[in-house]
Amino acid sequence: MLKFYNTLTKSLEKFKPHGEIVGLYTCGPTVYNYAHIGNLRTYIFADILRRVLEYNNFKVNHVMNITDVGHLTDDADQGEDKMEKGAKREGKTAWEVAEFYTNAFLNDTKKLNILPATIICKATDHIPEQISQVQILIDKGLTYETNDGIYFDTTKIADYGKLARLNKQTLKTGARVAMGEKKNPHDFALWKFSPKNEKRQMEWSAFGRNGFPGWHIECSAMSIKFLGEQFDIHCGGIDHIPVHHTNEIAQAEAVTNKKPWVNYWLHGEHLVMDDKSHSAKAQVKMAKSGDNFITVQTLIDHGINPLAYRYFLLQTHYRKQLQFSWEALEAAQTGLNNLKKEIQKLPTASDIDTDIATATEEEFLQAINNDLNVPEALAVLWSQVKTKNISQKTVAKWDRILALNLLYNSEKKILTIPPEIQKLLDERALARADKNWAKSDALRDKILILGFVIKDTDQGQKISAS
Ligand code: AMP
Ligand code: ZN
Repeated sequence: MLKFYNTLTKSLEKFKPHGEIVGLYTCGPTVYNYAHIGNLRTYIFADILRRVLEYNNFKVNHVMNITDVGHLTDDADQGEDKMEKGAKREGKTAWEVAEFYTNAFLNDTKKLNILPATIICKATDHIPEQISQVQILIDKGLTYETNDGIYFDTTKIADYGKLARLNKQTLKTGARVAMGEKKNPHDFALWKFSPKNEKRQMEWSAFGRNGFPGWHIECSAMSIKFLGEQFDIHCGGIDHIPVHHTNEIAQAEAVTNKKPWVNYWLHGEHLVMDDKSHSAKAQVKMAKSGDNFITVQTLIDHGINPLAYRYFLLQTHYRKQLQFSWEALEAAQTGLNNLKKEIQKLPTASDIDTDIATATEEEFLQAINNDLNVPEALAVLWSQVKTKNISQKTVAKWDRILALNLLYNSEKKILTIPPEIQKLLDERALARADKNWAKSDALRDKILILGFVIKDTDQGQKISAS
């Protein structure tokens, strides 16, 4: 039985999808800078979620957006657009900045064995969809206009803030929120007008003036477009609970008149680091706005394999805060190398007693199905590896979730072709026989993400580790 902790109900719930295909939406990166390894912790958590669903034989339609416009430096709708700020910093256009950091992000995710979403969609490619949702909200009388934009009036929604259990009364009287012309502290921008004397690089004509979408509307518009008016799972980091996801829910449920918009809300805890600005020991969340954030390239420059970082993360449950340190990463790298060495000594499938194998697989499955308890699943793997009560075939199967390339060594020689890769290779051979080149290419890309390069030769497909 697959169970998740649902932020919406604050409880562990059995997972029941709407239909045959699970709709999963992940809030994607804001592409004005490199993703830091804190951001990537959230995407690895989402990747584990997706892999666990697939391991349980669900088909998953995974949508992830790219925020390439509208995310302001202040979450309360003030400040500069992060993209335009990035453009000034780098002397490029906002469009160039977006393209560069989108590619950098996708490259980083590849290095961490994060599967690409089924659909990756950019906010700037979906402006008409966003305008249309804002128009519906205007027509329903849920908005008001100020000098700088069109705002959602949160007092018109009885259950506003249900995800974060926001106490509206306290916030009204006690909050110190930059209000501008907003009527209520929680009201948020659906559409911002371009400043009167300034030509923005990214702007569109709508609602009688040039402007750009507020940060939240892109996720409601694109998720509904690709996953329908109600879908199964929405995830992101915990910082999204009180503002971004709360506002997404308000918009989407008001647009569609359907509740709940999303059944399961899953949130990953933060990666934190020592706060160097304080003399007393304190931790802060790793943040792009901070100066000393760490990227995948920083890891590589320190001699840390990105998959050792993945292994480091998998040792802590996604709902627990995790403290970054180089010592802990080095220990994780040693641990992963040792694990792989031990795996090389394991027997093949035929040598293991079937009853033992079944019991072990059951233990592993129970761990991952219990709100993605990967640390416990890793403990199962380690104990079985130590007693040699597990075959390489089972390790290959479990690595479909862990994605640590457990079956090839550091020289990247393949020890075994994992069964799921063989299945994809067989499928691709059939696609090629049918001259279905699109499918063949898609399968080649999928196999590449899983760590293997294919060469088509006269003798058929030749595979090697990437
Ligand atoms: P952003 O690119 O800033 O829009 O953030 C992308 C994702 O990273 C969001 O889901 C955030 O919640 C998440 N995030 C931001 N900082 C951290 C952190 N220090 N640890 C884990 N996740 C984070
Ligand atoms: Zn979002």
